[in-house]
Amino acid sequence: MSQEKILKQVEVRNPGETEFHQAVTEVYESVKPLLDSSEKYRNFKIFERMVEPERFISFRVTWMDDRGEVQVNRGFRIQMNSAIGPYKGGLRFHPSVNLSILKFLAFEQTFKNALTGLPMGGGKGGSDFDPKGKSDQEVMRFCQNFMLELEKHIGHRTDVPAGDIGVGGREIGYLFGAYRKARNEFTGVLTGKGQGWGGSLIRPEATGYGLVYFANNMLGTKNKTIENKRCLVSGSGNVAQYTIEKIIQLGGIPSSASDSSGYIVDEKGITMEKLAFIKDLKNNRRGRISEYVNAFPEAKYFETDHSADHNPLWNIKADCAFPCATQNEINALDANNLVGNKITMLAEGANMPCTPEAIEVFLSNEVMYSPGKASNAGGVATSGLEMSQNYMGYNWTAEEVDNKLQGIMKDIHDTCLAAAEKYGHKGNYMVGANIAGFIKVADSMIAQGVI
Ligand code: NDP
Repeated sequence: MSQEKILKQVEVRNPGETEFHQAVTEVYESVKPLLDSSEKYRNFKIFERMVEPERFISFRVTWMDDRGEVQVNRGFRIQMNSAIGPYKGGLRFHPSVNLSILKFLAFEQTFKNALTGLPMGGGKGGSDFDPKGKSDQEVMRFCQNFMLELEKHIGHRTDVPAGDIGVGGREIGYLFGAYRKARNEFTGVLTGKGQGWGGSLIRPEATGYGLVYFANNMLGTKNKTIENKRCLVSGSGNVAQYTIEKIIQLGGIPSSASDSSGYIVDEKGITMEKLAFIKDLKNNRRGRISEYVNAFPEAKYFETDHSADHNPLWNIKADCAFPCATQNEINALDANNLVGNKITMLAEGANMPCTPEAIEVFLSNEVMYSPGKASNAGGVATSGLEMSQNYMGYNWTAEEVDNKLQGIMKDIHDTCLAAAEKYGHKGNYMVGANIAGFIKVADSMIAQGVI
């Protein structure tokens, strides 16, 4: 089938799912030369099969809020591809969650998981439930009712969810408790668990730490390091917090953080003490990033105007950028602002935070750019390590897990560069990641026959 036909078919079969179309188009454009030159991938209709989830589950979640009012939400699980291992990927609780967002995430996850070198297929799930402003009891009742249905479809050898936006340690705890009760079994069915009940050391830190390890590898190709580099970070959740932490530990200067209401700029740099404030604010008090300037008046807070055509956060002078909030948070105008300010490197912590037009701006201006499926893979890789530890019934030390994480990020980095060079796109991490991930999954699908 021609390029136009394949992408057209994805649009026709998945109407209105713009994020999914975006993710599919990016991968398709990277692997097209491979499809053109390889009869086996074409004959086995590998790409056509990869864009069709093996299964997706959609269900009603009914729960009661603190006022005794019944609430109805939607729950989903996309089981995208299990050619190389059990489905693996996070759960997102956010009002914007719909099939398009989860399918794009599950599609990306399939290639990301392949890149880690660990035996994990791709999946993603979640709900349009918004944990913001809900009491702990409401979150617990929602999680229990969500799991009442999800438990029928997952298992430690079948599908192993983890956290994502809106799903942190608290939610994983409630979800795990509900699964254990429903199934009368204690297995590693979720990752990101608490350390006393099967969780891996370094899992909470892993996405952010892995991102900065990856970035340092990128800078290393130009004989640079992150030391003394001014770094813009967006988000203030799990990924952003540990990105900031690792930047500080490696001698860089993180100078921003954000949430969906606005962003703070701290020209003096976010220190460990200031980061401790952010962690307490976001993880315990569940407050807004605007409160940062009350504690540290030398910083400035700006509200985000969601109707504006660009985000001024990306117009602050810096050397490196780490978008760690959400999809499509950097458009072409933002990218041009970053380039105008002479940014040298952008590593994605969030999934698909840059629009295709923004990526084009980076690549044509020789900004080192890495896609989330490569640079944020440290989270799922460490989830894979958590699964291994659960299977073994044994825990590695923090140092052991961190060493493995560093090794995996270096391998992913080198794999992307090698694939990019082999297929004529030297230095292009996006093409390299897409091709290397695709080949691993495609060859496994072919070996396992037409099913
Ligand atoms: P969290 O829920 O912990 O934090 C998300 C952060 O992003 C919050 O600061 C949130 O602000 C902000 N945010 C969310 N949605 C929007 C929006 N529409 N506009 C602006 N800001 C927004 O999530 P994570 O840190 O876990 O995830 C962040 C990104 O990293 C996501 O893209 C996720 O898919 C990706 N990722 C996460 C991994 C993990 O291990 N957790 C692994 C790999 C990728 P607010 O509080 O106002 O909503």
